Amino acid sequence: MIEKKSSVEYTQIRYELPEPEIARIVMARPDTRNAQSLKMLYEINHAFDVAAKSSSIKVIILAGDGPHFSSGHDLTEERNPLDYDLVVQAAGHHEPGAAGMYAGEEEYFTGLHWKWRNIAKPTIAQVQGKAMAGGMMIAMPMDIIVASEDAQFSDPVVAFGVNGHEYFLHAWDLGPRKAKEMLFAGETLTAQECKELGMVNHVVPIEELEDATLNLARRIASRPAIGLKLAKQAVNFSMDVQGQHQALTGALAMHHIGHAHARVQYGYPVDPNGAAVIKNDAKVARKVNDDTFS
Ligand code: ZN
Repeated sequence: MIEKKSSVEYTQIRYELPEPEIARIVMARPDTRNAQSLKMLYEINHAFDVAAKSSSIKVIILAGDGPHFSSGHDLTEERNPLDYDLVVQAAGHHEPGAAGMYAGEEEYFTGLHWKWRNIAKPTIAQVQGKAMAGGMMIAMPMDIIVASEDAQFSDPVVAFGVNGHEYFLHAWDLGPRKAKEMLFAGETLTAQECKELGMVNHVVPIEELEDATLNLARRIASRPAIGLKLAKQAVNFSMDVQGQHQALTGALAMHHIGHAHARVQYGYPVDPNGAAVIKNDAKVARKVNDDTFS
């Protein structure tokens, strides 16, 4: 059967069918290191819906163009979630201040990502280069992560006065002790470290990343859709009974204490001194690398 393509014209992503049973959603803003605008997030959401509803697609890959998977959320845009088809329908989008911002992030960050986590088909993130803050976040709801050797995962936003990004499952993916150190110290983790911690499934040379991901997707797609759906749901249920969703929503509330505090203290949703702290860390990291490899 010929797969019907989406009728929506995407401008920030591509929806590809590398094989009849495999869909690939590609973030396509490499000039911005795939910074995630709301438009991009809702295009991704639309593409996930198309793949989820398809009678032929069995596995969905999420990838990014260019040298970096994603630099995180596009902080340059004016966000208005009411321009989009809301997924969570959280009340308060019209309200100014903390209420409107909380409703927005419930919707387009935690809400969308949790919805993607529950798509009843296997999903694979194909990660190269930097996956920073929101970039790490968008890989986390995927069932499997395949990373290239140069991939790096970081969430340095404690420097901005919040607990971490808005899909706060760090302790589940990295273990509580490493999650704490990563958050407290703004650490960047290599793909290999993430593999050892259980967050990344495979680390491969960059030139093999696309094929390795596709090979895994093909192997998964050789199994019946019902088996895949039940296996995914069974694993997800085992996380759910441990309270994963409650942990996520509780962490988002804490995140918004941070945003609200910064609004009162600085008139801005995050601590404006955070950027300098993160920049300095990057400078120190570069120096360590230079010293190590010179
Ligand atoms: Zn936020």
